[in-house]
Amino acid sequence: MAAVVKADAYGLGAVATSRALAQAGARTFFTATTNEALVIRKALGEGPQVFVLNGPTGADAETMKGARLTPVLNSLEQVKLWAARGPAALHIDTGMNRLGLGPEELPHAAVALRDTTLALVMSHLACASSPAHPMNEVQLKRFIDAATLFPKAPRSLAATAGAQIGAAYHFDLLRVGVGLYGSGGLDENVMNLACAAIVDAPILQVRNVEPGETFGYGATFAADKKMRTATVSLGYADGYLRSLSGHGYGVLGGARRPILGRVSMDLVIVDVTGCDEAREGAMVEFLGPSAKLDEIAALAGTAPYELLTTFAGTVRKTGVRA
Ligand SMILES: *Cc1c(COP(=O)(O)O)cnc(C)c1O
Repeated sequence: MAAVVKADAYGLGAVATSRALAQAGARTFFTATTNEALVIRKALGEGPQVFVLNGPTGADAETMKGARLTPVLNSLEQVKLWAARGPAALHIDTGMNRLGLGPEELPHAAVALRDTTLALVMSHLACASSPAHPMNEVQLKRFIDAATLFPKAPRSLAATAGAQIGAAYHFDLLRVGVGLYGSGGLDENVMNLACAAIVDAPILQVRNVEPGETFGYGATFAADKKMRTATVSLGYADGYLRSLSGHGYGVLGGARRPILGRVSMDLVIVDVTGCDEAREGAMVEFLGPSAKLDEIAALAGTAPYELLTTFAGTVRKTGVRA
């Protein structure tokens, strides 16, 4: 199993995350870009293998070679550009039409890569988030057929969701990203994974509010009874998406505290009526064991991937819960 740590390890912080994963036994890493891979190489030293999914784009081929990175070659142009600089992976397109070589290009690649060690042949599934989708089997079959041209190379097809379709999809290496961080990557039948990312924020102010009072920009929520509310130091500038306005919740004192009205840039208002723990400085959990990644993403109308990667540098990445 390889660890996918692209996009700053899905927003969790590439250095701390890749070190923790290496300590837990990870030896193979995937990034999207060369710059991301250089960060991982520097953090982990020479031991681990670091694949670069987007491949070489020009001048960075020499940089990749110098840092002993393993590019994923996604086109005949990239195959020529790499030209036996060292081991490489080859991406076969099996239906996503995003990156990778098509069937008619593969024989040319096989010739051009005669003197290159193929560390991996890989492809990527378009519909793995619905395991019963017929596209999965179509891509599996195309992958098996195409990979016969490269009989000595280890094979990799599945990411987090694909790994759950069945053993036929596992081959030699799983490329797991979001599964490391708290989501099973499926559209339905959400797995109950431990959450690696915790976002909590302090209460700045507690208010007692009369019926008829409204909250925040646009006055989109009105109290229909006496309420206690807490204004919390978290907003969309931190990555707490504005689409959670009126939908999201924080957790305090073991219960869900609904968001009232709109999420502001740096502030959010939650309902803490009847909550004894609500006082200035108390920490409210917005993502974590009690506010699960998959559920919060669904409430925001997005995928767990986007929710995680949107959390900004303003959210301090401590690595451990304070
Ligand atoms: C992002 C990515 C992965 C990891 O996907 P998860 O769904 O996060 O496990 C694996 N392979 C490729 C090619 C990717 O782009």
